[in-house]
Amino acid sequence: MAEQRAGTATGDGLSAKERMKIDRVRMPEQDATARSGNFAEVNQGLDEERARLEAQRCLRCKNPPCVNGCPVSVRIPEFVSAIADGDFQRAAEVMRVDNALPATTGRVCPQEVQCEGSCLRGKKGDPVAIGWLERFIADWAAEHMPPESPPQTCTGFHVAVVGSGPGGLTAAGELARMGHKVHIYEALHDTGGVLRYGIPEFRLPKAIVDREVENLRNLGVEVECDVVVGRTLTVDQIAVDYDAVFVANGAGLPMFLGVPGENLKGVYSANEYLTRVNLMGAWKGETDGTPIARGETVVVFGGGNVAMDSVRTARRLGAEHAICAYRRTRAEMPARVEEIHHAEEEGIEFHFLVAPLEILGDDHRWVRGVKLQKMELGEPDASGRRRPVPIEGSEYVQECDIVVVALGTVANPLLTEATPELQLNKWKNIVVDDRQATTMEGVFAGGDIVRGGATVILAMGDGKTAAHSIDEYLRDKTPKGPPTC
Ligand SMILES: Cc1cc2nc3c(=O)[nH]c(=O)nc-3n(C[C@H](O)[C@H](O)[C@H](O)COP(=O)(O)OP(=O)(O)OC[C@H]3O[C@@H](n4cnc5c(N)ncnc54)[C@H](O)[C@@H]3O)c2cc1C
Repeated sequence: MAEQRAGTATGDGLSAKERMKIDRVRMPEQDATARSGNFAEVNQGLDEERARLEAQRCLRCKNPPCVNGCPVSVRIPEFVSAIADGDFQRAAEVMRVDNALPATTGRVCPQEVQCEGSCLRGKKGDPVAIGWLERFIADWAAEHMPPESPPQTCTGFHVAVVGSGPGGLTAAGELARMGHKVHIYEALHDTGGVLRYGIPEFRLPKAIVDREVENLRNLGVEVECDVVVGRTLTVDQIAVDYDAVFVANGAGLPMFLGVPGENLKGVYSANEYLTRVNLMGAWKGETDGTPIARGETVVVFGGGNVAMDSVRTARRLGAEHAICAYRRTRAEMPARVEEIHHAEEEGIEFHFLVAPLEILGDDHRWVRGVKLQKMELGEPDASGRRRPVPIEGSEYVQECDIVVVALGTVANPLLTEATPELQLNKWKNIVVDDRQATTMEGVFAGGDIVRGGATVILAMGDGKTAAHSIDEYLRDKTPKGPPTC
């Protein structure tokens, strides 16, 4: 980095050739051995000099493909060139308009298949590190810019939001900025959805989620936890009191393997495992948080982000052997590339091309191992990935004391079963039109409850679309209640 220095003049004045000569900067990280024993964030963030240098690698394409690669069309070239110019305020202002949770998406978006996957520089080497720059500018803004002020206008309309994950938080922010009074109902005792109970501290510090929620409160948004819509209140009741409703209750019902032994002691769904650790503080130790069984050898089934988060958590909880068992190969793993790389550095053991046949227990019904079958890859399936095919006679036993099932999640029927007016598809996801409107008057929906398990940025995109649709829907209406802005 010594001979590559950030330009100082406004409009850095570099030619495309000069930009091409700059190598992608490195993200400072916590040492792999140290971090596999703690829960502090792995990536340490870029400093100003590194951020400007990285931003100077951007070729400033006339038709930037990165923007098309971003599900919410963030004006990437604008904020990146502002960073290159050292105008962090301008970069932050662009970001604030386009992305409600940049500190989050900068940390957890699968950039390699979105913006960075489309970056021209990626055709011949490393793409511009757009995600790291997004994170840089979000953290810079949090430190240097005043919190957003409450809106000047008050429409008198009241909108209820169900769920405080990225979908609900984004919609709430957008609606509040438009002058609507927003009330969030959240089933858990804390906010953030998967951002808090699923994604671990070492990837997304909870202080960031707190910051985003605090910002919403500054905008006048009310948050009410411990309200399970469908039980404590129904959508119908809410729809009577509010002018519009946005449902973003996620897809929090875990899927299981369906093999014998799955109800033995020491078998967790990833949801329970991560919730105990992240939301309920099990990582702090047995005296401080909720208890969790810690194993010498932990086997996690799955190959996505949830599996990576679980197996890396197991390692941090002290597992000597933290094993990710996946029925395909590394190339087919749906987890973010960075998480797989970090997991490998942390000593996670990958057992590819294996599928579980049975979970084995001891006399006290505690897990003692898993019976596995080796697989090989056959023809591609509906997802386009090569289908794993069992190899006859290849069964073997892997000893372990904890099993975590991380196969993904589906829609929890609790809210929808209590709301028959909502049309569902065959996966029990809520059906919406292109405005995120459901089949129920004044009720909109988005995020995982509509898409099935998807991504943070897609849930945020739905939240934004729904907020604009709700605003439009309310335009020719009269507020139901007295304006309380
Ligand atoms: C462990 C894990 C890791 C992941 N890693 C990534 C990643 O790295 N990158 C990425 O882009 N995506 C990742 N995802 C997926 C991503 O987090 C989700 O797609 C996203 O959070 C969906 O947002 P949402 O707002 O629709 O729902 P959620 O985040 O699930 O939030 C829904 C909220 O609604 C609440 N709720 C549920 N039912 C009710 C009810 N009846 N009444 C009131 N409130 C209710 C829930 O408690 C929750 O707070 C991950 C998912 C998991 C589980």
